[in-house]
Amino acid sequence: MAEVELQGVTKAFNGQTAVNDVSFSVAPGHLVALLGPSGCGKSTTLRLIAGLEQSTAGTIHIAARDVTHAGPAERGVSMVFQSYALFPHLTVAQNILFGLEVRKVPKAERSDRLKRAADMLGLAALLDRKPSQLSGGQQQRVALGRAIVAQTPVCLMDEPLSNLDAQLRLDMRREIRGLQRRLGVTMIYVTHDQVEAMTMADRIVLMRQGRVEQYGTPDELYGRPATVFTARFVGTPPMNVVPLALLGGEGKRFAPATHDAASVSLGIRPEHIRLGEAGIHGTVTAVEYLGADSLVDVRVGAGADQANCLVRVPGKAGLGEGDDVRLDWNLADTHHFDTVSGRRIA
Ligand code: ATP
Repeated sequence: MAEVELQGVTKAFNGQTAVNDVSFSVAPGHLVALLGPSGCGKSTTLRLIAGLEQSTAGTIHIAARDVTHAGPAERGVSMVFQSYALFPHLTVAQNILFGLEVRKVPKAERSDRLKRAADMLGLAALLDRKPSQLSGGQQQRVALGRAIVAQTPVCLMDEPLSNLDAQLRLDMRREIRGLQRRLGVTMIYVTHDQVEAMTMADRIVLMRQGRVEQYGTPDELYGRPATVFTARFVGTPPMNVVPLALLGGEGKRFAPATHDAASVSLGIRPEHIRLGEAGIHGTVTAVEYLGADSLVDVRVGAGADQANCLVRVPGKAGLGEGDDVRLDWNLADTHHFDTVSGRRIA
């Protein structure tokens, strides 16, 4: 049974639809990422689950209870915000315990939960400090501590790592995932960072303009994207998507058996293309050396019908602008999309 379930959830602000007919369910103990570009409705969806916004239509169930019209305190969820939302005048301990005091949890129980959370998060030596005396990562841990001591079965997180530097983000990603597994909580995690979603989540809800574009495991979104949007949003650098017709005769062997080549686009990931002696002709327009590998930008097609393809090659490419190359890849790595609708062709 699902721990959290949304059915047809819609939210409009002043007639503008921010969340449009969103349905998905989250299994107990799973971490689901809400992923998508800025403004696609991720935070609003999370706030609807938290009860901080009221939906215009649809239903929300948490632990099999209809909470669509319940207040935030009645939903059994804790929430960690991007801003951490710490009280500057309270100590770390007081910040962590704030919600429990409001809920009148007995004092002995409070200090017990505080000790366990502080030990878990490495905050034991910092309990008397004020937030201004902490680093960004430590402040983030305090915000996590507050969610942990609440001991709610569902934890909601809104871009909790976006204020941290790259190294700390990597560490905290692992820390949050580890904690979530150890505590067995169900987590819904908003991010616009596809790497964060891919590395942390059991499943990803990819959103676009208020709607669910695709819901699946990281593997499904990467390996069988349902649309060109998913194909290009998941994976870095994005999948190359090129109209088949543009490749002329050279593209024939990649054509799907069942569809008119004129309406089909090919999708190939940069890491799946080989540069070699055979395949599609192209001309190098740029080479970016990244250390472990290089990104080679290759122009394919002829005349006005040209497109660029990114190719990832290990180490140094040994190529320069203007070089002629040939691109090849395995048929099994070819994705087909309808050029007009952008939908995957089975
Ligand atoms: P970001 O990654 O930039 O935070 P998001 O995917 O979380 O974006 P939301 O914050 O959910 O997106 O916003 C979705 C849409 O709803 C946006 O167009 C936004 O302007 C609008 N919106 C959000 N909250 C409100 C509000 N309180 N009043 C009016 N419009 C709102």
